[in-house]
Amino acid sequence: MSEHLYWLHEQRCVKAVKSLRSNGFEAVYCPNRRDACENIISAAQDAISIGIGGSMTLEELDLVPELRRMGKELLLRDLPGLTPYEQLEVRRRHLSCDLFLTSTNALTLAGQLVNVDGIGNRVGAMTFGPRKVIVVAGRNKIVPDLESALNRIREIAAPANAHRLDKKLPCALTGTCSDCQSPERICRITVILDRMPSLSDIRVLVVNADMGY
Ligand code: SF4
Repeated sequence: MSEHLYWLHEQRCVKAVKSLRSNGFEAVYCPNRRDACENIISAAQDAISIGIGGSMTLEELDLVPELRRMGKELLLRDLPGLTPYEQLEVRRRHLSCDLFLTSTNALTLAGQLVNVDGIGNRVGAMTFGPRKVIVVAGRNKIVPDLESALNRIREIAAPANAHRLDKKLPCALTGTCSDCQSPERICRITVILDRMPSLSDIRVLVVNADMGY
């Protein structure tokens, strides 16, 4: 990417960071992925249990090996061999872990975090419960406003996730949302964090890199 485009993205990231701060979040601009990783590893020093929400952004950061080396208790719901009940228990424990790591489906320039969930454990843990939450948002998640955020989720995030999860959903076949009535529908709960929830501690890392979808 040319330095001029990178600079342009930087302006948008910094604007989102300023808005997040004025909405009560702790927000940090990260010029690249490595900076985001270092920030998370540093925050993890004090945590005993760490929950990681299903997120392509976090997978790209590849934090698990280092967190394991640090001896952390990692709450991972997609470990091979876990029964559905054990996966459910991991999701429940995300709600009370020391540090919960997640991404966001969209971040508005006004500093709002917008997410759509099927189960609700991810948006639940983002909102209340863990001692600390770190949300990683690549620059591709930044949108002008709420309407664009919801469009982004319907047109990009949900179809791509449905396809990744091999769901039998219209959007996973055609790439287009049809506001389906499927029992497998993954869009069931919409949560907009307009401000930092009053009893939570949320840090948002806004990264000048395209991450996840
Ligand atoms: S409402 Fe249904 S078709 Fe639309 S994105 Fe969600 S799961 Fe896919």
